Amino acid sequence: MEKMMADGKLLTFVKELSRLLDQNPGEDIIFTKGKKLLENLIAEDDWLPMEFTKPHLQYYQQYLLYADPLDRFSIVSFVWGPGQKTPVHNHTVWGMVGQLRGEEKGTPYYPQADGGFKVGQACICPPGHVDTVSPNTHDIHVVENNLSDQTSISIHVYGGNIGRIQRSVFDPISGAEKSFVSGYANTLVPNLWNP
Ligand code: FE
Repeated sequence: MEKMMADGKLLTFVKELSRLLDQNPGEDIIFTKGKKLLENLIAEDDWLPMEFTKPHLQYYQQYLLYADPLDRFSIVSFVWGPGQKTPVHNHTVWGMVGQLRGEEKGTPYYPQADGGFKVGQACICPPGHVDTVSPNTHDIHVVENNLSDQTSISIHVYGGNIGRIQRSVFDPISGAEKSFVSGYANTLVPNLWNP
């Protein structure tokens, strides 16, 4: 019989998450079993190719690592230079944010009846930590690099092809909504079969 090389860590995660999503799980299962899979992926920081770790001087970077052909999920490497920060934004699909390197701060924003927001308790995320977003409960937040002197990297997994989804940014005071599509910083994706 032909011998095969062992799967790399990212390919293992893609396979396991695909198998989980094949069962049409509810969000509670995704945020328990799926979260565990992401925790396993980020438990070691030795698998992310260098091309997907590069910060940009001005903007945080979103590198697509893998997108499910049926748009059931996508995996993105977010790279934050010192002091970089997102606007207040939503996702419209479930999301898991796994800290790989450095430290990020995630702050939930809860929409209020008057159109503004109530700012929730911020999460300071050390490597290995997984935070979540969900359109059912807590979809709007701000994420920023919590370190002023080094790059932070997190691996995000979403319940859709996040770079192609039309979603929104919000004015933090008035709550005014503006639609956007984030896209991705890279034109090439990693070869998962060549770890
Ligand atoms: Fe986000």
